[in-house]
Amino acid sequence: MTADVLSLTDRLQDTDLLRTAAFVDGEWVGAEEHFDVRNPATGEVIAVLPSMDASAARSAIERAEAALPAWRARPAIERSRILRRWADLIRDHADDIASILTAEQGKPWAEARGEVLYSSQFLDWFAEEGRRVYGDVVPSHTADARIIVLKQAIGVTAGITPWNLPAAMITRKAAPALAAGCTIVMKPAEQTPLTALALARLAERAGVPSGVLNMLPSDDAPPIGTEFTTNATVRKLSFTGSTEVGKLLMAQASRNVQKLSLELGGNSPFIVFDDAGIDEAVEGIVSTKYRNAGQICTGANRVLVQRGILDDFVEALRQRTQRVTLGNGFDHGVEMGPLIDAGGLEKVERHVADLIDRGGTVVTGGRRSDLGRTFFEPTVITNVGTDTLPWQDEETFGPVAAVTAFDDEDEAIALANSTEYGLVAYVYTHDVGRIFRVSEALETGMVAVNSGRVSNEQAPFGGVKQSGLGREGSRYGIDDWLELKYINLAGLSRR
Ligand code: NAP
Repeated sequence: MTADVLSLTDRLQDTDLLRTAAFVDGEWVGAEEHFDVRNPATGEVIAVLPSMDASAARSAIERAEAALPAWRARPAIERSRILRRWADLIRDHADDIASILTAEQGKPWAEARGEVLYSSQFLDWFAEEGRRVYGDVVPSHTADARIIVLKQAIGVTAGITPWNLPAAMITRKAAPALAAGCTIVMKPAEQTPLTALALARLAERAGVPSGVLNMLPSDDAPPIGTEFTTNATVRKLSFTGSTEVGKLLMAQASRNVQKLSLELGGNSPFIVFDDAGIDEAVEGIVSTKYRNAGQICTGANRVLVQRGILDDFVEALRQRTQRVTLGNGFDHGVEMGPLIDAGGLEKVERHVADLIDRGGTVVTGGRRSDLGRTFFEPTVITNVGTDTLPWQDEETFGPVAAVTAFDDEDEAIALANSTEYGLVAYVYTHDVGRIFRVSEALETGMVAVNSGRVSNEQAPFGGVKQSGLGREGSRYGIDDWLELKYINLAGLSRR
């Protein structure tokens, strides 16, 4: 064990949550191949995990199929009670899970703890929604019949999640799946499997029956993705990650006409009109650009500022950005951690070089931090042209606010919509008419007005265009895990 393993273990009150095995059919199992999980802030190995392969995925799917009939048949209130217990256990162990999350992902501990609590809210929410899966009785076109519409669990499902929200993306899928009566096999991201496994341990303690939830860590995703999409037992896949991988999985899923939910990449515009509160908008940028070091799908990739307030806005953003404290997520007062890995750092550097080469002006930051490794300074670049990478639909996925000026509302809308993506748009204005005009014209699944946040369990999260299919969270979210079946009940006039 390295010093880092010891230090993470030392941070935990309940060391049993640090799991180094896969979770299949209620058992903790190993594999022949292994991979390292590293702390991005230090580079040290914090755990060695078994790398599950396609055959492990196949047997997990079989176990999920065996567990399905009993789970699906249980009254919704029983499933609900188990999900609530799971949520309570996550809250009881929030400090420990936050420590595991910070160790493998890098985000500041307080932010990690916030994500852990947020992850528990999907369980509370869907524990309730699962009890409200109502059908319909529809008037029939014949007098002696009734049309009855049932909603039924889809069946065995699969989930694949990214590293940037290691806790929330697990429960945002598992909670509606289990509440609806589905069973699920999940593959967390290679960089952040420990959080997912800790959550699985708590699901086990909460009484989730064997085989209902299965967790497969791996550093070789493609064979597992192929098994998830081509195994006919798996009736639905929910994927959160890049658009590139989402398209690949969509093509594979066509073989069995498998149902899909896809939460993919974004290229979010952040529009600040000249009647906006500048400080308010600056805090919105901090929330969407520096939270998780800008590694969030809802990150503002293109900041659009109306020309009349451009200078004041950029100056306020510079001052606020320079106050962002960068460091190891375990250190007190740190507001921003490192980027996830060398690939993430290189991408941010490539974007910054492109922005500068094409005429952008660095206002602050723009380079690797003196802290070394994958730490990158929070950055503001202005005079950004529409020939740059963010405007060519590349997500920077880092702490770089790329500012472009616009003149009027029509131009702002046209610029905002000039992308293949459509996840979220941010709009800062106090003009009520403009709020409606602009929100309705934006081609996105979500619009945040005078706020840098859109994610919560009550609202339908999801994108349009190449940002994905389906919605997670909200009363609509459970529909993605249900099939409609209609029964034509005839012969009712006969006595
Ligand atoms: P990614 O490369 O697409 O990886 C996401 C997940 O897919 C990981 O578990 C990964 O496994 C797996 N994967 C990779 N290749 C695969 C394949 N061929 N078959 C099956 N699975 C495969 O994305 P990322 O870089 O980790 O995450 C960042 C992206 O996610 C960004 O584009 C971001 O916008 C998006 N995202 C979207 C949302 C949303 O709700 N819309 C939320 C968060 C993130 P490995 O880790 O083993 O490679």
